[in-house]
Amino acid sequence: MTPVIQRFLEYVRHETTSCEESTSRPSTPTQLAFAEKLANELKELGVSNVRTANAYVYGEIPATTGYEKEPAIGLISHIDTAPAASGANIHPQVVHYEGGDIMLNQQENIVMKEADFPFLANYQGKELIVTDGTTLLGADDKAGVAEIMTAAERLIQDGLPHGKVCIAFTPDEEIGCGADGFDVAGFGADFAYTVDGGPLGEINYETFNAADLKVHIQGRNIHPGSAKGKMINALLVGMEFHQMLPVIENPMYTEGYEGFYHLEGMNGHEETAHLHYIIRDHDRSKFEAKKERVQQIAQYLNGVYGPQTIQLELSDTYYNMREVLEDKMEIVHRAEEAFRACGVEPRSTPVRGGTDGSRLSFMGLPCPNLSTGGANYHGRFEFACVPEMEAMVEVLLHIVQPRG
Ligand SMILES: [Zn+2]
Repeated sequence: MTPVIQRFLEYVRHETTSCEESTSRPSTPTQLAFAEKLANELKELGVSNVRTANAYVYGEIPATTGYEKEPAIGLISHIDTAPAASGANIHPQVVHYEGGDIMLNQQENIVMKEADFPFLANYQGKELIVTDGTTLLGADDKAGVAEIMTAAERLIQDGLPHGKVCIAFTPDEEIGCGADGFDVAGFGADFAYTVDGGPLGEINYETFNAADLKVHIQGRNIHPGSAKGKMINALLVGMEFHQMLPVIENPMYTEGYEGFYHLEGMNGHEETAHLHYIIRDHDRSKFEAKKERVQQIAQYLNGVYGPQTIQLELSDTYYNMREVLEDKMEIVHRAEEAFRACGVEPRSTPVRGGTDGSRLSFMGLPCPNLSTGGANYHGRFEFACVPEMEAMVEVLLHIVQPRG
């Protein structure tokens, strides 16, 4: 078994599930323990200036002699796993995939069916790492951690020429907080890559622009027997608000570059009601127009029902990193060349979500996202492809080596 796979199989045994409800940082103490473990491993490999802060791990490999003027390149992955599925007691299994369905758990009859995941056909003849059907795998993003760690080991052991390489492992990505405590200045990279994508060859440099919207509605409750002309039913005002949004701009009917308003939650009664939306669009002007529309609707309904009926809490969450990368496309091209050097044709797909890199890019660290070789994230059908993970180590080594 190659070093990257050995590392991965060991890392996934450390439970590091993050927790949405927690207000402490990191959100779970298990991440602290894993961060310390990774810091020790970096030190043992000979990585310099290894330090931790609240489950963020940083380290550097100084430029080899003569390459000090090369750009300082960062490699980043996250240590937590998604709270959507259990990340405890993970029992990874290495299987040689011959096509068809994969029996994950004989006892409980949990099967990964080719019919449900037709893209499994791409993996025929390859070794896959799968779960036992009761937990997620944690390839998101321990595959990235193992690949970066192994690339660091190779850089130091093989004496390959490179500029300064900066390494970071971050907590709480899955609850959207991975960039919060990231020390961009201390990290010291000119640009970076998160290694947190899916199948080999993926490069993501476009994400959504994202906003969070809370709609607070103050109604006027009167005994229904004598409510005529007096009652304002907050729930009905909420339904009216929603009906004024374009029906088709909904996650159920959108794909590719199409944005949406997504109603995540709604609660209340006649007196008060609350609606919670997220707003998404790749295009900044369409994104701004969506935010304007909800304000116009609120204004209109306040005109109908009284000025304080609807109050909006609208805040931006992150922006499309393309805005930052558009005039720094050499960063994307560098990764594309590295994939091609490893015999892989790169594919760029717009992310219908955000990555830590979206936030980091706007914090001054341009940061596209690269594949890990994993797939089916956040659930028990998650798996990682052994040769793809091994190839990613080579891709990372190519990325940090000086250009022609
Ligand atoms: Zn991830």
